[in-house]
Amino acid sequence: MIKDDCIFCKIAKGEIPSATIYESSEFRCILDVAPANKGHALIITKEHYDNIFQLDAETAAKIFSFATVAAKAIKEETGCEGMNVLQNNGAVAGQTVNHFHLHLVPRNTDDGVNMSWKTMETEASEQQALAKSIKSRI
Ligand code: 5GP
Ligand code: ZN
Repeated sequence: MIKDDCIFCKIAKGEIPSATIYESSEFRCILDVAPANKGHALIITKEHYDNIFQLDAETAAKIFSFATVAAKAIKEETGCEGMNVLQNNGAVAGQTVNHFHLHLVPRNTDDGVNMSWKTMETEASEQQALAKSIKSRI
């Protein structure tokens, strides 16, 4: 499915120009127009999926497989020391473009990019019970 009003559908199809690193029949890897750091890239699906909750495992596998290739190329080119690979789902999680995409954010010492969170209290027994409940849904 392609959504007419979706900017990433248009970018994925090539209707809106982008700084494209790589393109396959399933995805396009582009540079983010407002990067957190030099080399910040996005892998966007060619089909429209709102988010990970809609994405199928087969397409996801291809995207993450390519992420390993892109990460190495970006690291070589930018000389970054590390990289965050992240993916936001839903406005509550910081998603601003409702078309599945994976971020590759190169990281350097003291680069000022912030991806931290406060941790919550939990207990081992609670974690075991929760893991079991989630497993029962797989
Ligand atoms: P999100 O917040 O949904 O996880 O990330 C959306 C990302 O898409 C942001 O980092 C934003 O800078 C990027 N973005 C939004 N519009 C465009 C665009 O038209 N072209 C490109 N290359 N990136 C975009
Ligand atoms: Zn779309």
